[in-house]
Amino acid sequence: MAMHAAGAAGVICALLFGAAAAPAPETRAPGDLPVARDVRLAGDEAKTRLVVDLDRKIEVRAFALANPYRVIIDMPQVSFAFPDSAGEKGRGLVKAFRYGLVMQGGSRIVIDLGKPAKIERTQVLDPANGQPARLVLDLAATDRDTFMRALALNNRAPDRPRVRDPEPKEETTDARPLVVLDPGHGGPDHGTRLAPTDSPEKAIVLEFCLLLRDKLEKTGKYRVAMTRTDDTFVALADRVGFARERKAALFISVHADALERGDGDAQGATIYTLSETASDPAAASLAEAENRADVIAGLDIAAEATDVADILIDLAKRETKTFSLQFARTLVGELRNATRMHKEPMRSASFVVLKAPDIPSVLVELGYVTNRQDLKSMTSEAWRTKATDAVVQAVGTFFNARGVGAIRPAARK
Ligand SMILES: [Zn+2]
Repeated sequence: MAMHAAGAAGVICALLFGAAAAPAPETRAPGDLPVARDVRLAGDEAKTRLVVDLDRKIEVRAFALANPYRVIIDMPQVSFAFPDSAGEKGRGLVKAFRYGLVMQGGSRIVIDLGKPAKIERTQVLDPANGQPARLVLDLAATDRDTFMRALALNNRAPDRPRVRDPEPKEETTDARPLVVLDPGHGGPDHGTRLAPTDSPEKAIVLEFCLLLRDKLEKTGKYRVAMTRTDDTFVALADRVGFARERKAALFISVHADALERGDGDAQGATIYTLSETASDPAAASLAEAENRADVIAGLDIAAEATDVADILIDLAKRETKTFSLQFARTLVGELRNATRMHKEPMRSASFVVLKAPDIPSVLVELGYVTNRQDLKSMTSEAWRTKATDAVVQAVGTFFNARGVGAIRPAARK
């Protein structure tokens, strides 16, 4: 899927990460972005080279991360024009790689290593002898001890992708409740790797949320915000922070599930709420997979504050849990009329994005990309219309039961 340069998916989380100001990324017209045209791997398990063809010279920075072994290349925002299957198959030390936007103004290539490797060279070469400008990354095999020692020595923590909010938030006098929609994944994190390349999970859920946002706004009853509105990566903690900072009254995270071949053929939508212990083993492994988004996009999760919940009191959590379950139940009821449901449509597990202690939160898995009919539905306009209508209904019922706009804004001012 093409990377969009424009858009207002700004997310800054002053609450969680302090207001440390980095220089504002340079804004350029989308048409003026450097283009990464092609990518190649060469070499073997001892030495592997990655080459990226560029239409002009850019500054890049490469660093390694452990657990799992990865090499990250950060660069200014570029427009990736790689072939669709680029990165799926590795070579030598490289198992696979992904790429995409990690913030407005910043792109990234995330390389999965099969074993520890040393970055021997990172260089962008001038165009010469009919060759375009080229990014060259040389990797050499090493052992774990050397790898870990190099990390410790080179311990300048990589810049965390910090997406800036293009419009500073004003204190709103709008008393309508705020619904935050959270399309999963984005940028180098495509979502489940079992989805077809032309319909990645990140695109399916973004389209769904954009339509849902329009419909919710049309009711005039709510304010709506999205954690991303384009193909940008947003860290899990930032998604929660985004909703908390804006004092959301409801948080809806949207994903699509997948099942490995040989694990049967599950189908239908499922609504998840937060629980420490998962309702079943499949829910536990799904939460584990969804919680890996930060790793996939090249964050060092060891350095991340992942628990945003521990500062808050139990009472808020208990109230939030009740409301989350109430909404989940309503949503199951409405979605039933619009789409196929999983045989156990209400489940729970420990999803990081559901951990806001004071915001009713659910995670919707729209269906299984590995099920033919589900995939056909999720990529169809007609289905999307029906399914988003059902969510709008459920949101209406949820707020009606609580008195629209009366409880949250007043109580939380
Ligand atoms: Zn997902």
